[in-house]
Amino acid sequence: MSPNNLSNAEAISAEAVNVDAIKQSDSTKQALQIEDAEKTYRVKRWGNGYFAVGQSGDIEVTPRYDQPDLRINMKEVVDEMVAEGIEFPAVIRFHDILRSQVERLNRTFRTTIEEADYEGRYLGVFPVKVNQMREVIEEIVDAGNRFNYGLEAGSKPELIAALAYNTNKHSLTILNGYKDEEYLRLALMGLKINRNIVIVIEKFSELTKLISLSKSLKIMPVIGLRVKMMVKGRGKWESSSGERAKFGLSIAEILKAVELLEKEGMTEAIKLLHFHIGSQLTDIRAIKEAVQESSLIYSRLVKLGVPLEYVDVGGGLAIDYDGSQSTSDSSCNYNLEEYISDIVYGFKQTSDLEGVNHPHIVSESGRAMTAHHSCVVTKVIGEIHPRSATYNTKKATGEHIIVTNIRDIEKDLSEDNYQEAYNDIAQLKEQALQAFKLGIMSLEEMAKIEVIYWRILETINTLVAGQEFIPEELKEIPEMLSSQYLANFSVFQSAADSWAIDQVLPIVPISRLDEKPTKLCSLVDITCDSDGKIDHFIGDDVVASNIPMHALNDDDYFIGIFLTGAYQDVMGDMHNLFGRLNEVHIVSYDDDPKDFYIEEVVKGSSVKDVLSTMQYTPEILAQMVKKEIDEQIRRGKIKPREGVNWIDFYEDCLGDYTYLK
Ligand SMILES: *Cc1c(COP(=O)(O)O)cnc(C)c1O
Repeated sequence: MSPNNLSNAEAISAEAVNVDAIKQSDSTKQALQIEDAEKTYRVKRWGNGYFAVGQSGDIEVTPRYDQPDLRINMKEVVDEMVAEGIEFPAVIRFHDILRSQVERLNRTFRTTIEEADYEGRYLGVFPVKVNQMREVIEEIVDAGNRFNYGLEAGSKPELIAALAYNTNKHSLTILNGYKDEEYLRLALMGLKINRNIVIVIEKFSELTKLISLSKSLKIMPVIGLRVKMMVKGRGKWESSSGERAKFGLSIAEILKAVELLEKEGMTEAIKLLHFHIGSQLTDIRAIKEAVQESSLIYSRLVKLGVPLEYVDVGGGLAIDYDGSQSTSDSSCNYNLEEYISDIVYGFKQTSDLEGVNHPHIVSESGRAMTAHHSCVVTKVIGEIHPRSATYNTKKATGEHIIVTNIRDIEKDLSEDNYQEAYNDIAQLKEQALQAFKLGIMSLEEMAKIEVIYWRILETINTLVAGQEFIPEELKEIPEMLSSQYLANFSVFQSAADSWAIDQVLPIVPISRLDEKPTKLCSLVDITCDSDGKIDHFIGDDVVASNIPMHALNDDDYFIGIFLTGAYQDVMGDMHNLFGRLNEVHIVSYDDDPKDFYIEEVVKGSSVKDVLSTMQYTPEILAQMVKKEIDEQIRRGKIKPREGVNWIDFYEDCLGDYTYLK
């Protein structure tokens, strides 16, 4: 167990004592609790100006970075969705956040370039693979239009989408990924329809293919060379750079490529130098080093007579998912301004020293553009914990001595002996199991021991919470008592990276944040897979395996999984045939800072939809079941009217949402 689990746990018990002891007026108490919620869930720290805990105790969204007075209450959004009959889990998209991020990136590059007296321009592109949804691409292209912000494609299907959508004559379309002849042909077609296509050579053999194709079609391409950088990215994706990187040309290959193009009379085609050292670069030092290395390569190539004009710094701009501003895998130790400043000033310095022109700067930030704009909201539908079981533990005649012993410990439990009791019950539980295996303990007796054991642990936990000094071994009790909250969603569909790479995503209740959370929980989903859980949460300094949540009551308890707009939105799979989520697009009114409307509802997959992707034909399924029912009707086992009802029910289910109702 990491020490941090304790701090989340200690927070729970410590707050309990504080609040009781001080007895403030209700409103101060509420204000203090909201401050505590902010500390626990770090909403402002990962929220990037877009999310905060509101005075009402609900999550509030400020979707426009230039309009801080806009405040949308997420609880009201959820209430409206419920009123409109939209089923959960659902994706909530804030298109204003998407626009804000695109504007922020472009504006910051522009002001930094101006401040630095930098002579090149900024021409960013959005990498389609980070979120290929049409609505997302449309919004980004629209928001980026006045900045000549373009698109980056890494495959044929992405290029086909980019060719249709990136219609701005001044923006770039950058093509990465491995390319076959068809891909290259599409790229050249793009040049024919006036797109600023840059074909980035990832592998030497692509170059020979491209040369012969462009000669036969008589189209001069614009070529980018991706360099395999020596600098290592830091974080999960550090293998994207270095000698063993999958993509890019070594220095020797770059020189060979220049020579080959010269021989073919195509030197003028070489316009861009590209690198990408990995996504989610957690440490700003990796970026500084990459800028230094690439700016030198750029300058030296220019001095060799290569007519380069652009440098493309790739992606990697990280998101502080856990709000720790550290170099942990789910965080980063820098912000947007610092990132841009290091790039602009870095290239300026090297170019000036080397006496070459300042290159135009291209960047391919995807994660940072989209992560904040969408989240998944779902309902907690139950709690799983062994202590929840109840059973009559009264003394029975002739019961096993272990049962009597553990009952006596419970009776005598006090502030003076809880540590001893803690040790004893662990031992008794162990002995009980052995006795059961030997066949000398009954199922009823086992049930009693189990129930008394958890009851004692709960009491010890309350006793310990009031103490100044807590012995090391007792610090694990809150963890042992932690619950699993069962939520109506699939990790594999909605939070793929939490499962695949232990990525921390902020998870926060949508409301009740003015109330003290009294449960320590991890989250489990509704798939039939023990991996279908989330146990990486925001903790004090390292990742915690539990997060404080509120005790469930009669009201619906909605939680949000935030920052799912990059990759998570589109990488999910249909494990257990749980399909895509219902989606709503929320837009704010210009004239009322608190109001919002649901601009669009996109229906998620129905049972029929997901079955069809697995080659089933829903109509045939219904016929097959109908045949069985008819058979039972013929045999008199089902009445005809009842049979019709069953068939109708089956067909209705085919049209339903795949998640729990
Ligand atoms: C994935 C990828 C990106 C996007 O990276 P982010 O870290 O999400 O900004 C950019 N460029 C290339 C070549 C990529 O493969």
